[in-house]
Amino acid sequence: MRIPRAQADAIAAHARSGYPHEVCGVLVGTTGEGAVQVARAVAVANRETERPAVRYQIAPEDLIGVQRSVREEGLDIVGYYHSHPDHPARPSETDRRIAAEGLSDGVVHIVCGVAGGRDTVATAWVFRDATQAFEEEPFEIE
Ligand SMILES: [Zn+2]
Repeated sequence: MRIPRAQADAIAAHARSGYPHEVCGVLVGTTGEGAVQVARAVAVANRETERPAVRYQIAPEDLIGVQRSVREEGLDIVGYYHSHPDHPARPSETDRRIAAEGLSDGVVHIVCGVAGGRDTVATAWVFRDATQAFEEEPFEIE
């Protein structure tokens, strides 16, 4: 997965500003031969109301809104990002279960750990239906 530096920085800044709650967003870009190319990370509201420190939820209408707004540019939704406040920057078992419930094969997930509201570390993962698991993906900043 390749992502422009400004967009990777925007994800980290979003993770810090939302701390101690999880923040989330949508990755738009292009897929084709080779790596997924992220063009932009679009922040969306975390709709989780009960446990926003450890869960996130993206509303379907927010997804549709993003998809409509980027279609003219020839972009599509290629994945998602969310933060893990004071938790490791890797998908949790809950993340795996939710991905397994959907049609998630090949979808990129960026997980941005944010410790103490300051230090961030982001990793990228691709969900595979065949194994029902996330595989770590190179996080290439360009
Ligand atoms: Zn998570």
